[in-house]
Amino acid sequence: MESALTARDRVGVQDFVLLENYNSEAAFIENLRRRFKENLVYTYIGSVLVSVNPYKELEIYSKQQMERYRGVSFYEISPHIYAVSDNTYRAMRTERKDQCILISGESGAGKTEASKKILLYYAVTCPTNDCMAALGDRLLQSNPVLEAFGNAKTLRNDNSSRFGKYMDVQFDFRGVPVGGHILNYLLEKSRVVHQNHGERNFHIFYQLLDGGDEDLLKTLGLERNPQNYHYLVKGNCPRVSSISDKNNWKVVMKALCVIGFSEEEKLLNIIAGVLHLGNTQFGEGEEGETYITTETQITNLAKLLGVDGSALTEALTHKKLTAKGEEMISPLNFEQAMSARDALAKAVYGRTFSWLVEKINQSLAVKVQTSIILKASSVIGLLDIYGFEVLQHNSFEQFCINYCNEKLQQLFIELTLRSEQEEYETEGIAWETVQYFDNKIICDLIEEKHKGIISILDEECLRPGETCDVSFLEKLEDTLGGHPHFVTHKLANGKTRRVMSREEFRLLHYAGEVNYNVNGFLDKNNDLLNRNLKEVMCQSDNQILSHCFRREEVMDQKRPEMAATQFKNSLMKLMEILMSKEPSYVRCIKPNDAKQPGRFDEVLVRHQVKYLGLMENLRVRRAGFAYRRRFEAFLQRWYKPLCPETWPNWHGRLVDGVSTLVNHLGYKPEEFKLGRSKIFIRFPKTLFNTEDALEEK
Ligand code: ADP
Ligand code: MG
Repeated sequence: MESALTARDRVGVQDFVLLENYNSEAAFIENLRRRFKENLVYTYIGSVLVSVNPYKELEIYSKQQMERYRGVSFYEISPHIYAVSDNTYRAMRTERKDQCILISGESGAGKTEASKKILLYYAVTCPTNDCMAALGDRLLQSNPVLEAFGNAKTLRNDNSSRFGKYMDVQFDFRGVPVGGHILNYLLEKSRVVHQNHGERNFHIFYQLLDGGDEDLLKTLGLERNPQNYHYLVKGNCPRVSSISDKNNWKVVMKALCVIGFSEEEKLLNIIAGVLHLGNTQFGEGEEGETYITTETQITNLAKLLGVDGSALTEALTHKKLTAKGEEMISPLNFEQAMSARDALAKAVYGRTFSWLVEKINQSLAVKVQTSIILKASSVIGLLDIYGFEVLQHNSFEQFCINYCNEKLQQLFIELTLRSEQEEYETEGIAWETVQYFDNKIICDLIEEKHKGIISILDEECLRPGETCDVSFLEKLEDTLGGHPHFVTHKLANGKTRRVMSREEFRLLHYAGEVNYNVNGFLDKNNDLLNRNLKEVMCQSDNQILSHCFRREEVMDQKRPEMAATQFKNSLMKLMEILMSKEPSYVRCIKPNDAKQPGRFDEVLVRHQVKYLGLMENLRVRRAGFAYRRRFEAFLQRWYKPLCPETWPNWHGRLVDGVSTLVNHLGYKPEEFKLGRSKIFIRFPKTLFNTEDALEEK
């Protein structure tokens, strides 16, 4: 017993439900800290895995480790991402139900690494057949490609994913992975044309310049030095010590090859085209008209994009309007021309990214000859998406991300509580409903038709006349004043704790309050590209571009959906997908802002524990029964080790054996329940003390 206590003192508890002081945030963080110091980066809250980024390579991801976790139950081995992977896989196989693993956490917390480890686990441990052996490879190789085009160096993470990703892995009836499918969300397109100090554009640009051979660069009309490109200099950060652009270039090119990609040349033309577009400069004539000062660039640019040079020049400096059925051409001023150019760069890059995802999906799609064996197939979905984001300055992007997290929280409540309830019912156990905050009210505030924030934003974007970000804010105040989760400077009347500026609105999210600055909301939601630029692009003889810019889009007079509404609709679809599956959760935490191993910044961690809703998580979990096990499994697992002298084996009725055993262990009647086939223990302290000593010496 004494050694068990020492072990516990040093390494903490492996499941937060075992914390004696489970209501205390301080105790929670202290437990995380102790484990982190011992390189134990994983801890459970029931079946939720909490993971702290070690920022160093740990020897816990080897093939041997994978073997240790195969077929072993959650509480019988120390917490690990492989345990989640394995349990999910087994649940899919035995219960024949689709599964999903939801990974959340802030930037740099380790979400993408976690999702890669899960994929690797399946690629290594799942059975394969010959024709499918290659699928595992393609699944794994889709990562470097997506990261090259969708990741960038930011202040918080040298390899930060700038898009949300949901990936389905499809298994046949024997558990062989046979296909995959990716959905991408909200690529941060603005990064193509602007980066903050110390940040970079998407990796692919630097990889091409550093890794592409002389001939290639010459064909693309590029110089090696990234500092020569306007779209790459803003962050003043051409090199990152932790990244080798040259090597990664090779990795990406090889990955494209494994995926079976044949449009490399067209793709690189587009990437180079974006760089040349950024270097396109404008001058202002005496009459205020705008012209292009970099004529030679345009020829090159037009060639790369596969479009007509003079048409492109015209479209970059003029806009086409239709008024009363008549077409009019009007010149753009300097500012407008610059933003038309940037809008084109963003559209070209963003659409090419979506096209790339589509291509990867074609490569991962289940092949026809295997469709017969797919009849009894199941799916494991992996969601790698931003957690709650609270920055110094929060804008449209944070608004969308945090809205997404409200939806995921709703899903969490619904699915976790629902499945708990169902299990207790099947087992015939009385169950008191848990009190929790239902965040539906906040979801409604954002997404409700007509009077939700997104509707009001769309309306303001469409309203003729002078609309601007401030008029949007006023509209919000008029419509939502009095809503318990919505505050502005005016409405608060000086009654809030934090000072608010007049350009902000505050949402009281389930995880805490966030102030959003309305500057740029309208533009970002509009996401407009001038019609004549679209016309030029859809005539491109680069097939990727002509695929991305459809003629129908130009012909169609209807305005396309705006950004926030598009996001809302894609989230609705995502929720439907996730609802139909059995969820598991991985919550990632970043231990410090310096990306350093061994440092545990308590303030930073506390912030994340709060915004990930972990204390609430624990409370809900504690209200139920933390430990549950089928009678025979329970006896098998605990009978011998706990009572070797008295009863080497139990020969009577299972339920009587279990009952005798828990009494022997000193549990009071209110601390456990016996169901039809399972024992439930609310707070399995005794068992786990033993387990700590067994597992974590
Ligand atoms: P996120 O996707 O949450 O933004 P990443 O998964 O990209 O964060 O992780 C950021 C960095 O942290 C990685 O590039 C890697 O250096 C480090 N890291 C994350 N998880 C681990 C891990 N389990 N072991 C070692 N290093 C890790
Ligand atoms: Mg990531």
